[in-house]
Amino acid sequence: MSSVENVIIIGSGPAGYTAAVYAARAELAPLLFEGRSLGGSPGGQLMLTTEVENYPGFPEGLLGPELMENFRKQAQRFGTRIVSEDVVGVDFSRRPFVVKTASTTHEAQAVIVCTGAQAVWLGVAGEREYQGHGVSACATCDGFFFKGKHVVVVGGGDSAMEESTFLTKFAEKVTVIHRRAELRASKIMQARAMANPKIAFVWNTEVTEVLGDGTRMTGLKIVNNTTNETSEFPADGLFVAIGYQPNTAIFEGQVRLDAKGYIVVEPYSSRTSVPGVFAGGDVIDHVYRQAVTAAGTGCMASLDAERWLSSL
Ligand code: NAP
Repeated sequence: MSSVENVIIIGSGPAGYTAAVYAARAELAPLLFEGRSLGGSPGGQLMLTTEVENYPGFPEGLLGPELMENFRKQAQRFGTRIVSEDVVGVDFSRRPFVVKTASTTHEAQAVIVCTGAQAVWLGVAGEREYQGHGVSACATCDGFFFKGKHVVVVGGGDSAMEESTFLTKFAEKVTVIHRRAELRASKIMQARAMANPKIAFVWNTEVTEVLGDGTRMTGLKIVNNTTNETSEFPADGLFVAIGYQPNTAIFEGQVRLDAKGYIVVEPYSSRTSVPGVFAGGDVIDHVYRQAVTAAGTGCMASLDAERWLSSL
């Protein structure tokens, strides 16, 4: 085991890197773990995004991966050490805190958790079987494979609208299947999707099974939940866009989580139930979920950690 770190940051999205920029500039020499288990690349959800137009300071917009590369470089510029390994366990019951990867064990006076959130799946038959063979939760990653095809997007929120609109760059037709007759998405994103001639909507309908020929998805079994009428819906692809789940499995029993599994922090702070453990980004936020809010709460976590360390 190496010497005790001042602060370990777990996560490499906007929250983690912003925490690192602040901690590094406070000369805390932070050690940051960038996980690879979620989609294979560090950088968080923006790695799965194309154009980002709402991150302040970039009036022309930029690509999600480009933005994350900038975050990373800025964190490194001030001396953040980055380890490309998933954290597989923590022990916050003892001091210094313990953070483990599959091959190493580290100790730290303070820990900042910025592990984010990930997509939720429908959980219907065939969905898992055809993942990567028609079924996806990431239009940015897989849209390219559906050139000239007909794809379905499930969901009625901003993610579903964003995915549908993006998919029209490739697909011939995009059908949004939503379980109610009203979208949850913001008005501007609804309007954009509805004005797109390639996007059609099927209301009050749920997907009950993903159908395939053994190698690829060929369609969906659907049910109209007002008439109970079932039917088969031919489609080449299914993009599931029904929300997110926080990445907190390794923190169960270590810090207080809410009913949905998000880390609970004290109001207007990043303080978790364990003094010395702070959290920021989507892992504490099921309301705003924006890169800029994640960066903001990552900054808060770093400032809180710095204050806490100086009080030891
Ligand atoms: P969301 O707003 O929670 O919407 C999830 C949608 O999926 C809802 O329409 C929900 O239906 C549906 N759904 C949930 N479980 C389902 C199931 N088992 N079967 C079928 N449908 C199901 O999630 P989101 O769209 O991922 O957005 C999350 C947050 O990120 C929001 O705050 C959103 O504003 C934000 N966001 C912003 C942008 C942007 O501004 N660029 C882009 C993406 C996301 P009901 O409506 O019936 O509940």
